[in-house]
Amino acid sequence: MQTHEIIKRFREHFENNGHTVVPSASLILDDPNLLFVNAGMVPFKPYFLGEAPPPFKRATSIQKCVRTPDIDEVGKTTRHNTFFQMAGNFSFGDYFKEDAIRLAWELVTNPQDKGGYGFDPERIWVTVYEDDDEAQQLWQKVAGLPTERIQRRDGKDNYWDMGVPGPGGPCSEIYYDRGPAYGKEGGPVVDEDRYLEIWNLVFMQDERGELSPKLGHKPVGSLPNKNIDTGMGVERVAVLLQGVDNVYETDLVRPVIQKAEELSGRKYGDNPVDDVRFRVIADHARSGVLIVGDGVTPGNEARGYVLRRLLRRIVRSARLLGVTEPVLVQFAEVVRDAMGPAYPDLVSGFPRIAQVLKAEEDTFLRTLEAGSRIFDNAAAEVKADGRATLPGDKAFQLHDTYGFPIDLTLEMASEAGLTVDEDGFRKLMAEQRARAKADAAGKKTGHGDQTVYRELLELGATEFTGYSELASEATLR
Ligand code: ATP
Ligand code: MG
Ligand code: MG
Ligand code: MG
Repeated sequence: MQTHEIIKRFREHFENNGHTVVPSASLILDDPNLLFVNAGMVPFKPYFLGEAPPPFKRATSIQKCVRTPDIDEVGKTTRHNTFFQMAGNFSFGDYFKEDAIRLAWELVTNPQDKGGYGFDPERIWVTVYEDDDEAQQLWQKVAGLPTERIQRRDGKDNYWDMGVPGPGGPCSEIYYDRGPAYGKEGGPVVDEDRYLEIWNLVFMQDERGELSPKLGHKPVGSLPNKNIDTGMGVERVAVLLQGVDNVYETDLVRPVIQKAEELSGRKYGDNPVDDVRFRVIADHARSGVLIVGDGVTPGNEARGYVLRRLLRRIVRSARLLGVTEPVLVQFAEVVRDAMGPAYPDLVSGFPRIAQVLKAEEDTFLRTLEAGSRIFDNAAAEVKADGRATLPGDKAFQLHDTYGFPIDLTLEMASEAGLTVDEDGFRKLMAEQRARAKADAAGKKTGHGDQTVYRELLELGATEFTGYSELASEATLR
């Protein structure tokens, strides 16, 4: 089943059950705590918080999401995209647990010729929050699930809140058993790769206080209006319904891998190290294009920095596959063709998108040439000395003179089997900042382009992580 059909069935199922269809919001919303929209509920936050009256009792959406904290998983796990689509159904003080479970169960297990996804009910496992006897009983009653396939998890995994006093509630997640080829049976489904999490149901029922129920504290009250917030991973369902191994091989992502095969002359599937590069390219090309499509340009502030990092990882991965020609626009064209039918703005806005990508690639290729030579020499020296750590002053030089962000140096070092003396590096950075402060009375020292990278680095070292942590604290479930 193609992705567009998966989406269509989701939408129709909930529309037929009285939900208003709400189009995806932009990836960029005016929320200081959030770099990118990372869950379907984000655009509905004001309704859940009681800041605005919901214009509907039930809604459904297919929301574009970006999760920057998942960037390091990309290509290595079978299930993490930086960009993905979250299909959701929402109830604002209307139906609650029983109907949420029933509606999800019907869509997941109804036969394909009856509008469902046709999953074998015997292969579905669920988790519930440790205290949530009600959810446990409902899964038995509504879905007929045996207790062996209902696992209880504590607040860390199965309690949702926004990290601040306000609404919160237990979650229940739906997993699909991919079979013995993916691992042993019966372990905790959250830990075993064999079980793929496809859907998370949040039962917003509590008023949380200062102390989080995630850490075992009791909620301070219960909400007068209980809400439902769910998120189903479209790409994850596509993996299962298309019989592929991972989210990068689904119909809308895989074409970029094909393009990279064409350009490199290498084959996906031949070599595990190359395979990660193919998957990184395919994933990041999609998130990069969608992020530029929503108006972000590469830069040194938070969102621009994330975008820059994604784009530069594509270019570098392509080079590691042996491609030296410019690649970004070529991959972007493939993304446009795959995603354009669902997101027509990508087609109409493509000339601008292509221009942004080309400019970023030109800048980066100049930086990369010079810096890579220095890095390779330094790495060879370290190895010749029988050491395994790139000195902090080398990382500093790469940053200061060649504009290498530290995460690039870390990544290249790890590929070369080395670590980096990050403490030494940060000490030199701090000294440099102190000098710059002392000089602040004087005029700015003109390093040309280099200051750009200095800021970028500072972001990389501090605020960048801060933002992603904030983002996950605030809305990840
Ligand atoms: P995981 O444990 O696999 O990282 P999660 O628990 O962080 O997933 P949720 O926050 O519950 O995910 O999001 C709801 C749904 O969105 C998930 O059940 C999954 O289907 C999908 N999803 C979450 N993160 C990703 C991702 N990085 N790529 C693709 N789909 C995702
Ligand atoms: Mg996650
Ligand atoms: Mg999870
Ligand atoms: Mg989850």
